[in-house]
Amino acid sequence: MVSSQKIFLFDFDGVIVDGMNEYWHSSLFACEKYLNSPHISVDKSLYMKVPNTFKEIRPWVKYGWEMVLIVHEIIKTDNPIKNHSKDDFIYNYHENCERILKDNSWNPKNLQKILNESRKYQIDKDFERWVNLHNPFFEVINFMDELSKRKIKTGVITTKGKIFAEKILKQLNIFPEFVFGYESGTKIKIAERLNKNYEILGFIEDRKKTLIELKQNLKTSHIPCFLADWGYLKETDRFNLGNEIKLLKLDNLKQLVAI
Ligand SMILES: [Mg+2]
Repeated sequence: MVSSQKIFLFDFDGVIVDGMNEYWHSSLFACEKYLNSPHISVDKSLYMKVPNTFKEIRPWVKYGWEMVLIVHEIIKTDNPIKNHSKDDFIYNYHENCERILKDNSWNPKNLQKILNESRKYQIDKDFERWVNLHNPFFEVINFMDELSKRKIKTGVITTKGKIFAEKILKQLNIFPEFVFGYESGTKIKIAERLNKNYEILGFIEDRKKTLIELKQNLKTSHIPCFLADWGYLKETDRFNLGNEIKLLKLDNLKQLVAI
């Protein structure tokens, strides 16, 4: 039974905040402190600037652990990913990740664990500094405020660890009805579960594949889906969206409140 309680759903990274500096910083620190790889040597200057190669690969990332792997490939002393080899890497993104995991005898769980440890370490050491590595999209935060004024609930569904997303949201003074992290299962399953108790007014996400999956799943296909134009999009994402997924610009968020 669908209740009359209305809710609007948001992805976190690339939708509510731009965390590019944090992804680079935390993944690099994970490589330096926890990875024990003989193929890299990390010096301080690497922390100063996020390389374009990393920024350009980021739209392909689904889970945090992939970023540790990518940073390792970018900084390794022998045959690193440079701009010219980036396209090859992206072209077979999943196969490349699998191969690199195998070559190094890593697994996604270990890499996710060291990324989490890297974040915990920084949070314990200097919380403010860690939080400030994230740049919020204030238009989205205002939109969330506006929704709550209209008694519409908000929910955040992220592939980040729940506690990290919650810490940042709290700092931004946003208190959604709930936050689901990667620990809670796939976004599709979470949306299915929520659908039993809420009327879902929309889902804003910057990963097109996730929105396509939502639309293809019978139990979630009715949810209005919005692709965040301001997020980490691949160049081709903006094309061939069909009628079902709408490209949303930051400036158009205000119009959505009229729902
Ligand atoms: Mg995202």
